[in-house]
Amino acid sequence: MSVNLQTPIDYLKGVGPNRADLLRSELGIHTYQDLINLFPNRYIDRTKYYKINQLQRNNAEVQVIGRITSFREVAQKRGKRLVAEFRDDTGVMELVWFRGQKWIRESLKTGQPYVIFGKTNWFNGKFSMPHPELELLSEHEKNLRSAMQAIYPSTEKLSNKGITNRVVTKIMQQLFLETKGRYAETLSDTIRGELKLLSKSDALFNVHFPKSPELLSRAQFRLKFEELFYIQLQLILKNLIHKSKIKGFTFEKVGDYFNTFFKDHLPFDLTNAQKRVLKEIRADLGSNAQMNRLLQGDVGSGKTIVGFMSMLMGLDNGFQCCLMAPTEILSVQHYNELLEWCNKLNISILLLTGSTKTSDRRIIHENLENGNLQILIGTHALLEDKVKFKNLGLAIIDEQHRFGVKQRSKLWHKNELPPNVLVMTATPIPRTLAMSVYGDLDISIIDELPAGRKPIKTVHRYDNNRLKVFRFMKDEIAKGRQIYVVYPLIQESEKMDYKDLMDGYESISREFPTPDYQISIVHGKMKAEDKDYEMQRFAEGKTNIMVATTVIEVGVNVPNASVMIIESAERFGLSQLHQLRGRVGRGAEQSYCILMTGHKLSNDSKTRLETMVRSTDGFEIAEVDLKLRGPGDIMGTQQSGVLNLRIADIVKDKDILQSARHYAKSVLNLDPSLALPEHNMILNTYRQMSKYRNIWNYIS
Ligand code: ADP
Ligand code: MG
Repeated sequence: MSVNLQTPIDYLKGVGPNRADLLRSELGIHTYQDLINLFPNRYIDRTKYYKINQLQRNNAEVQVIGRITSFREVAQKRGKRLVAEFRDDTGVMELVWFRGQKWIRESLKTGQPYVIFGKTNWFNGKFSMPHPELELLSEHEKNLRSAMQAIYPSTEKLSNKGITNRVVTKIMQQLFLETKGRYAETLSDTIRGELKLLSKSDALFNVHFPKSPELLSRAQFRLKFEELFYIQLQLILKNLIHKSKIKGFTFEKVGDYFNTFFKDHLPFDLTNAQKRVLKEIRADLGSNAQMNRLLQGDVGSGKTIVGFMSMLMGLDNGFQCCLMAPTEILSVQHYNELLEWCNKLNISILLLTGSTKTSDRRIIHENLENGNLQILIGTHALLEDKVKFKNLGLAIIDEQHRFGVKQRSKLWHKNELPPNVLVMTATPIPRTLAMSVYGDLDISIIDELPAGRKPIKTVHRYDNNRLKVFRFMKDEIAKGRQIYVVYPLIQESEKMDYKDLMDGYESISREFPTPDYQISIVHGKMKAEDKDYEMQRFAEGKTNIMVATTVIEVGVNVPNASVMIIESAERFGLSQLHQLRGRVGRGAEQSYCILMTGHKLSNDSKTRLETMVRSTDGFEIAEVDLKLRGPGDIMGTQQSGVLNLRIADIVKDKDILQSARHYAKSVLNLDPSLALPEHNMILNTYRQMSKYRNIWNYIS
């Protein structure tokens, strides 16, 4: 009989209740299964021994054979440290302990040959090794040694309690003994055959006890693939179940609104990407499954018109539609843009935001419920309980990262059937990450900018070049262009940031005096109507310069603005910089982005600035961002349990992810309910996973 891997870890020989508690609390290891999935962080060569005179000052981990010749205690600021002199035939070094000194003194013997292992420091003209792993040479020779000894994740508490890497390795060996190294296969023969994957048992053995570098890398590949495969399988299954179970409204026909707009009022030719995406949306809306689609497109790629034309499909079938944006300014702008088109088509459209008057609200509520109002644009105000549609068929959410998943789903509950949902985002999430995080959404991508756009020229300038920058601004204004100057506003240092903004505003006012120049200012402390007033003046070309905090970050569209100056640019994240830059380059003129910084820059800041200067491709920038910050920090993905991977790395293993997704898809295409005998083990593994690890809860 094979060993049940769900056996609590306490039952493993050599573990016992104390160690079991520590393994549970420190590493989350409850069962045999958890232990076997404790994958090494790295591997070190335990067959190589250094002589003391071969040690280098590079802080590397080394293994040395020698003898302890004496102990001494050294007083230090707090408590004392224990120092042992350690010699081989080439020299002398020190071993140092800051904790557990009594036990060390009692258990270590002078004059006996030991093997020590650890990191070396160069200190006071000598090499020392703090808290080495020690083993009598005679014991050491009995142990399995490998050129690729696994080093497991650990915590300070574990090492303080004596659960060293050697102990974990021993426990792992015990586990392999008890299970005889036999583990149930979890991938089908087809997949294993096509990808030449190691069997599960071989992979597990070689990841813990590699027989050769080649087998180690094959083992890692197989385990990474498996991990990503099952995540993708879950996401795709969820999407399939969603489609089959959750019925949505079907927009059966393409009717007059759409056709008239397309024939008579289209303000420009759609790009091929826009056309393709519209087709994808059309296919979803024409089916009876509820649409749940993410539309990604770089800033300025023209998502608004795609959203609007999707709405027309809804209106053509007698449904109401809404568009929700994260800020008042943006909603107003969307409203104005769509109003122009709606007027041409005789469509009723209204705006609802936090500052909508009560009397106007009443009109909106009434006309929504009796169905006279066809399109409603607005902010979070759309989510209020009083807002009830007669028949909401399509809800569009712009700039999705500002809204949580909860809000997304709240829109659903405005009807008896959930409306079709289109989420538009200009923060390109790298495809690989999107696949993992939004695997339950369908994804459309606009990967092409409208023709005739000139790439924005981006430069990095130091603060002491400000006079030159002012001169450049004057030249641009003389040509009739408008300019944004943006200051960071980061919550925790709000007061200081606010002062920076005001100082900046004053110096610009001095340099650009009225009546020759007009300046707008917009920041978070202003009343909404004052902000709107200033934005409006700028949008109408009545002011030359807009001094602002990041409130203008998202979506604002002033095509005549051709220069974006970002102050203290080193303090912005990459995606924010890219968003800000996207405010210019919307007209036919050459546009510029100037990144202003001081001289002191961290390496990450330098990389961000260089990336901005080099690239205008949102996806490329997002990839760099992902590398700099790691997936956990990318907006909106923090809560995603999917990123707690055991062995795979979303950034480094994106090729494996792609292949895993491909295989998960083809398995489910062939056999959506995993009923075929050859998929039996996939079904079983999948069931086990959902039983023991609930990964569903992070998705809406
Ligand atoms: P975003 O994707 O950032 O929301 P918008 O929808 O605001 O971009 O579009 C940016 C600008 O490009 C707008 O002024 C819009 O009218 C214009 N635009 C959109 N599509 C096209 C196109 N196919 N050809 C020319 N201009 C376009
Ligand atoms: Mg937009």
